[in-house]
Amino acid sequence: MTGPKLWANSGDSHLMEPPDLFQKRLPEHIAERMPRSVKDPDGQWETVYVDGQEFRRRMPKMPTDNLGNIDRSKLRNLDGTIGDRAPGANDPHLRLKDLDQEGVWAEATYPSIGVWSYSIRTPEVVAAGARAINDWAAEFQDVSPRFVVTAMIPLLDVGDAVAEVRRASRELKMKATFLPIAPPFGRPPFAHEEWDPLWEAMEEEGMVLGFHVGTEPHTPDQRTGVYNTGRGGAIQNYVETSYGAQKIAVSLISAGVFDRYPALKMLVSEGGATWGPFMADRMDEAYRQHSAAVRPKLSKLPSEYLHTNVYASFQHDRSAVLANTAMGWQNVVWGSDYPHTEGTFGHTQKTLHELFDDIDPAASRRIRVGAFEELFPHVPPAPADEPA
Ligand code: MN
Repeated sequence: MTGPKLWANSGDSHLMEPPDLFQKRLPEHIAERMPRSVKDPDGQWETVYVDGQEFRRRMPKMPTDNLGNIDRSKLRNLDGTIGDRAPGANDPHLRLKDLDQEGVWAEATYPSIGVWSYSIRTPEVVAAGARAINDWAAEFQDVSPRFVVTAMIPLLDVGDAVAEVRRASRELKMKATFLPIAPPFGRPPFAHEEWDPLWEAMEEEGMVLGFHVGTEPHTPDQRTGVYNTGRGGAIQNYVETSYGAQKIAVSLISAGVFDRYPALKMLVSEGGATWGPFMADRMDEAYRQHSAAVRPKLSKLPSEYLHTNVYASFQHDRSAVLANTAMGWQNVVWGSDYPHTEGTFGHTQKTLHELFDDIDPAASRRIRVGAFEELFPHVPPAPADEPA
């Protein structure tokens, strides 16, 4: 290592639920409807069973090093198994060792198999599943104040959603929710007034609204909106997940959600951040130049809500740093994406130095540490950077 050890909080990390979580915590007739993965014998495809539906999914391609050799230690599976390079993915105590080694202080964590719960079609089943995952995640969080786990919220009924927000906040001491980029099929978009009780409850509880990219609802044969096959597909799919980040931020600002619930803050994880100032300019232009068509009217320009209420996380993007230093968006948050392959585990210090060594120290600290602390002021402060 060439420079000091840089500490950072992560606005984008993941828990890997144990595969028997639902069997252990739910009655059998509900547990059997929860998501589970069965891999083909050749290991190339898996079938995910969710609430009577089947989704076929190609297994992630083998990660390779820069010589093209397969790096088996980076393999990860939906059932929670993972290579030995991220030993703390399933264990909170080992995880703290991983974080110390990487220089990651605190992290906001999203579910893994829980993402599939948004494909459940039965309200009682999704509500029970959310409670089971959240109870497990809260036990994980209890191990250290450095863990900020996000609560699964059942979205087939807004009353169920509000009830789980209240329970997660008051009984489980959770400080953030995890919502998919788009609601389950058959539900109105998040801009719709039907969701207002959810935003109201979250504002009252002081919970951060966490969105993670790539969580649009699944259809039986594909991941809607983020599934291109053939030439260019892998890059296209990855890049297209960032469109969802932009769309959810724009839709909530435009719908006046932050006008009505001004203390509500949202974090969009893993979608990069450079889009923030760009979308702000586009929204302001629309607000001014198409004012006759704009409804609802807002009490501030759309860009002001971006600066006040919206945060976004990135892992490797040099351009995301410039969204802060060159474009003035203070809410750029670094994220490790631990333990995923597109994350920084194993090379976090190298990544942080590449991103921040030539950046103003105050801006560097803001992106690595300060913006996260603003979202989660209950977390103990990160250590000072350490001399080499
Ligand atoms: Mn992530």
